[in-house]
Amino acid sequence: SDAKTSNFLRQVIERDLAQGHFDGRRFAGTPGDADHHAQAPLDSARIRTRFPPEPNGYLHIGHAKSITLNFGLAADYGGVCHLRFDDTNPEKEEQEYVDGILDAVRWLGYDWEADGPDGQRRSHLYHASDYFAFMYRAAEALVGAGLAYVDEQSAQEMRERRGDFSTPGTDSPYRDRPPAESLARLREMRDGRHPDGAMVLRARIDMASPNINLRDPALYRIKHAEHHATGTRWCIYPMYTYAHPIEDALERITHSICTLEFEDQRPFYDWLLEHLCTLGLLPRPRPQQHEFARLNVSYVITSKRKLRQLVETGAVDGWDDPRMPTIVGLRRRGYTPAALRLMCERAGTSKSGGLTEYAALDAALREDLEPLAPRAMAVIDPLRLKLVDWDTAFPGVEALDCEAPAHPHQPALGQRRFQLSREVWVEREDFAEVPPKGFFRLFPGNRVRLKYGLVVECTGCEKDAAGQVTAVLATVVPDTRSGTPGADAVKVKGTITWVGVRDGLPAELRLYEHLFTEEQPDAGGRDPMTVLNPHSKRVLQGWLEPSLAAARPDDKFQFERHGYFVAERHDHRPDRPVFTRITGLKDRWTK
Ligand code: ATP
Ligand code: MG
Ligand code: MG
Repeated sequence: SDAKTSNFLRQVIERDLAQGHFDGRRFAGTPGDADHHAQAPLDSARIRTRFPPEPNGYLHIGHAKSITLNFGLAADYGGVCHLRFDDTNPEKEEQEYVDGILDAVRWLGYDWEADGPDGQRRSHLYHASDYFAFMYRAAEALVGAGLAYVDEQSAQEMRERRGDFSTPGTDSPYRDRPPAESLARLREMRDGRHPDGAMVLRARIDMASPNINLRDPALYRIKHAEHHATGTRWCIYPMYTYAHPIEDALERITHSICTLEFEDQRPFYDWLLEHLCTLGLLPRPRPQQHEFARLNVSYVITSKRKLRQLVETGAVDGWDDPRMPTIVGLRRRGYTPAALRLMCERAGTSKSGGLTEYAALDAALREDLEPLAPRAMAVIDPLRLKLVDWDTAFPGVEALDCEAPAHPHQPALGQRRFQLSREVWVEREDFAEVPPKGFFRLFPGNRVRLKYGLVVECTGCEKDAAGQVTAVLATVVPDTRSGTPGADAVKVKGTITWVGVRDGLPAELRLYEHLFTEEQPDAGGRDPMTVLNPHSKRVLQGWLEPSLAAARPDDKFQFERHGYFVAERHDHRPDRPVFTRITGLKDRWTK
């Protein structure tokens, strides 16, 4: 049913497959430096993609796009997708984030385990830090081949000599030092003989290149820092731009898919891998990088730095606040993995991205929940309705039993039961003392049906000293009980939802809106903190029909007329229900 629309990446993959580029057997035949890239088990996977997060924060909706794209392509073309922690930055990375990422990928419905050619199940979970030894050896090989050198200039001197878009750079005085001298320095760097920043290893490419990324980019820097996986074993760490191509090649990635910001890095990616293949350190065919436009969603920011600011300033209640675009936040809000996958698929994959409407996520959620989510009635902004003639209408009867299907098209879900008695809760907005034009709900003299119950006729209201309506008064219209013969004989224009005062459950209801008032909160360099929506969270006390007493955290429902709600992941208790609105029944802005 999930018909996939074609996109340029699919076309690239289909072309490569047709040309036999990435046939697993050819990989297996050219192991190159087998002892060091044994990490990636060879099998007949036809394509290999990877999702390479840096474990320095929680994943967000943009990462969901990358995950669904990479895991989705691998699944569709009979390949595998690697989950790789790009953990080359010792200071910013933590185990907490590693665990969070594993959780998020699994929750989205993907698995980094796959069957190998021998029928054995294999894990394709990798860490860049596992390759540090190889990366270092490759660095020595580059130095030996005259393709890299140790530069002892200060950071400022290097910056000044790099030039800019209009000016070519100038060579470092260290650029032509003998390889043996660079090699000696590189080993001193590795052995901890120099402080942070004293020198760096640089590629020796072209200081006059119009592409600044080719002006002798840094490959290694000194950082006396403890790494969450390798501890203090290393005091030099590879730069991302050096590490990433090598990780891809060692894992025999066929299609290295990244966002457009990395387009200018592709020449270096190719330069590095081409040389390491020629030096016999890496196997051919080597991976190819392909760039696509990142996912941008309206009313959402995805920069980790800015998301952290929201958490640290208390603008939200943590990384999993239901307003956060993090996977943990979206999950807590009630969005489902299927809805996220559908939204990502529909957002498309192209070279020129636009802005994806946040409403697309809500539409996907509704599509996912509509067919199965149990229905229930809830009153969000309660006003008491008194059936003043109850005792005459139903002498000696405390309450009438009512029932409704849990889902209109899923009889297997069974029936909900609740009671109608002399007082019920209705929505405050369902009463008007003086009805506006086209208002068919409660106003003096009008008849409405209490859904699944009976028809009542409004007779007036009660007010407090301030003139605020405190209760609506009505009488019972005889012989109108839902489900009894002739119940429809009395025609009404309005049907309203309600909850019995007698058997309703008091509940906390959390209603969220966009976190920002602007569609593109950080467009044009604007500080998103200046466009925070002060009304993004409202907490109300409402009433729920008794069938919801069985709800468990994360259970999702359609509250009739109000939208989709989820039992709060952390705070919901059977004796103290807390529900969060995921989204309304319709997109309020476009319909
Ligand atoms: P940030 O810049 O906010 O720190 P990041 O992109 O650097 O995030 P990584 O952990 O490096 O975070 O990202 C892992 C992968 O997810 C990368 O391949 C990256 O390109 C991809 N990715 C991140 N954001 C988006 C997005 N908005 N749309 C598509 N892919 C994304
Ligand atoms: Mg990154
Ligand atoms: Mg980034």
